[in-house]
Amino acid sequence: MALTAGCPAEARLLQALRDSEALLEGHFLLSSGRHAGRYVQCAKLLQHPDRAAAACADLAAAIRDRLGARRPYDLVVGPAMGAVTLGYELARALGVRGVFSERAAEGGFSLRRGFEVRPGERVLVAEDVVTTGKSVKEVLAMLAGLGVTEVAVASLVNRSGGDYPFGEIPYFRLADLEVPSWQASDCPLCADPAAGPAVKPGSRPGLS
Ligand code: ZN
Repeated sequence: MALTAGCPAEARLLQALRDSEALLEGHFLLSSGRHAGRYVQCAKLLQHPDRAAAACADLAAAIRDRLGARRPYDLVVGPAMGAVTLGYELARALGVRGVFSERAAEGGFSLRRGFEVRPGERVLVAEDVVTTGKSVKEVLAMLAGLGVTEVAVASLVNRSGGDYPFGEIPYFRLADLEVPSWQASDCPLCADPAAGPAVKPGSRPGLS
């Protein structure tokens, strides 16, 4: 089961990302060394509480629509650090508890600080942007180890390139976004004189 909320909510999110400089278009040098024509950093949107609340209200509404008469989730878990803010705001919008999981010394994620999943609870895993889905999959593995049987995933942006990055597990999101990237030697923007040189996202030419 996949879900993009559709035009109005998706358009609102993309506008809020642009307004927050969380979605940039240009010629970027990524930390991996690859070049890209787009850059997404949802934390730049989430630093604005009003925009975070609005985006999470849209995501919560999309989840409720999809669930219909079914009871919504009981608990939202966001993997730290990236999804702490999103998970909390999404929990607020859904009217449920919101916690975060932390990297464990032995690998994977764990719940600390007295956070717990109660028997029979249905859990929603929150992530701001799903790319490889690696952190989410590690949280899903943690939840399976805790005996949780009903889970789903929600994110603001899906840039995994697929509809079902978590297989059979329901996945809700507001927008699908493609962010193609290339080795520098294959970069079409490097070949385009009008594009200018590749810059690190967030750096401002002339102000350094
Ligand atoms: Zn390039």
